[in-house]
Amino acid sequence: MKSADLSFMPVSQSELQAMAYTDPLTGLGNRYRMRDKVMQISAERADDPAPFTICIANLDRFKPINDLFGAAAGDEILCQVAHRLKACLPDGALVTRHDGDEFAFVLPLIFERASAERFGQMIREILSAPYDLGDRNVRLSASFGFAIYPFAGEEFDDLLKSAETALYRSKRRGHGQITVYTREIAEEMRRTTQLEQALRSAIINDAIDVHFQPIVSLATTQVVGFEALARWRDPDLGPVSPGIFVPLAEERGFIDTLSEVLLRKAAEAALAWPRELFLSFNLSSAQLMDPGTSANVLSILGRAGLDPHRLELELTETAMMGSADTANRIITDLRRAGVRISLDDFGTGQSSLGRLRDFMFDKLKIDQAFVARINTDRASEHIIKAILAMCEGLDLEVVAEGIEDPAQAAKLRSLGCAMGQGYYFGRPTDAHSIKLLLRKIYGEASLEG
Ligand code: C2E
Ligand code: CA
Ligand code: CA
Repeated sequence: MKSADLSFMPVSQSELQAMAYTDPLTGLGNRYRMRDKVMQISAERADDPAPFTICIANLDRFKPINDLFGAAAGDEILCQVAHRLKACLPDGALVTRHDGDEFAFVLPLIFERASAERFGQMIREILSAPYDLGDRNVRLSASFGFAIYPFAGEEFDDLLKSAETALYRSKRRGHGQITVYTREIAEEMRRTTQLEQALRSAIINDAIDVHFQPIVSLATTQVVGFEALARWRDPDLGPVSPGIFVPLAEERGFIDTLSEVLLRKAAEAALAWPRELFLSFNLSSAQLMDPGTSANVLSILGRAGLDPHRLELELTETAMMGSADTANRIITDLRRAGVRISLDDFGTGQSSLGRLRDFMFDKLKIDQAFVARINTDRASEHIIKAILAMCEGLDLEVVAEGIEDPAQAAKLRSLGCAMGQGYYFGRPTDAHSIKLLLRKIYGEASLEG
């Protein structure tokens, strides 16, 4: 082979070493270079552990820019970023590039939070100036995570992990944010890990429960179905809201296990209700990104023996944004099997009327924020009127959520809203109480279980 010639080019030991420590695109050091530097400083300071700081900087929304303008333009931006960062580097400091759009600093002379934040502000400013791509200019922001040695980690891996945690928090708060890993964050991480462990064992020990809240016909106040809501009471922590533990299970990657337990319990409870009552169950956003979800749901129903036509799945538009194609496939598969889909929290989050036009939903739930103000705020009333008119035109069923008093119920009824849910009609209660309630309404004979 002709190209083999190249392999005979003499490369010295030091050149090889330089290559192993260099990012080929920008010429900056890489992650190994950074680790080396951190280990060297901490060794120097072993006897007198004076602090120093590391920082990870991650460009915001770099991927869409890369997709839009092409990889060459993306590379050009990365090189310009590298150039700017090198130009403003303090004495003795190091800047490196890691994967993709991630850069890092080692800052031997930054000892505490305020200086770290000031440094972050300076870099943020420098990176915010437009990038010249020949025929056009592009603007970018960046997010920052700082970790201070030795508090945030004595070993390189721990220190880096703390900086990543801080960066993750910046990203969660939006674009261009700066976070320093502090005692409060460390404490919160510890609490979250504790909560995660408690939740995992609650799942294993079958300590997670499902309660049910009635959904009624507003015209007759008759119950037409129930929404399943997860409940967990930890012996030490007390009751923990599903608004906390559901996102935690998503973040830590065990939402399938949790949701499987919940759906199984909910489906088993629904078997004891009259057949005409539906079960409404919340799907989480992580489940809408998992192609296995539709098969899982149907197999849980199959094992419990609940007819898919009695199940409604509630999902939010924000949850669908994550990976729209996968979400669409899941919805299509489930609907084909007879499951109905309801759009939860409508009016908040990322509403897109386009999705309603695609006829993917059977029902829409008006968010409680509008319902709460229907009699006091004209804007809320108008929004609800508009939603009701739209649903009528699109042949969508409607439920108003969070009805707390008779005046709200009356108003919604007069506007033509067919169904309602809220404390006024009934709080979420356990399966046994629901059974007693239904027995009172329907009499013994009509209940199956
Ligand atoms: P969501 O799906 O919007 O559920 C409605 C929430 O409003 C429930 O809170 C319910 O208890 C509460 N609610 C009902 N009526 C009223 C009312 O009249 N006034 C007020 N102020 N609140 C009312 P909850 O049970 O704390 O659940 C919070 C969120 O956690 C749910 O919001 C849902 O997003 C999530 N969640 C609950 N259970 C599950 C579950 O089994 N799976 C998944 N993925 N998410 C769940
Ligand atoms: Ca819901
Ligand atoms: Ca809701």
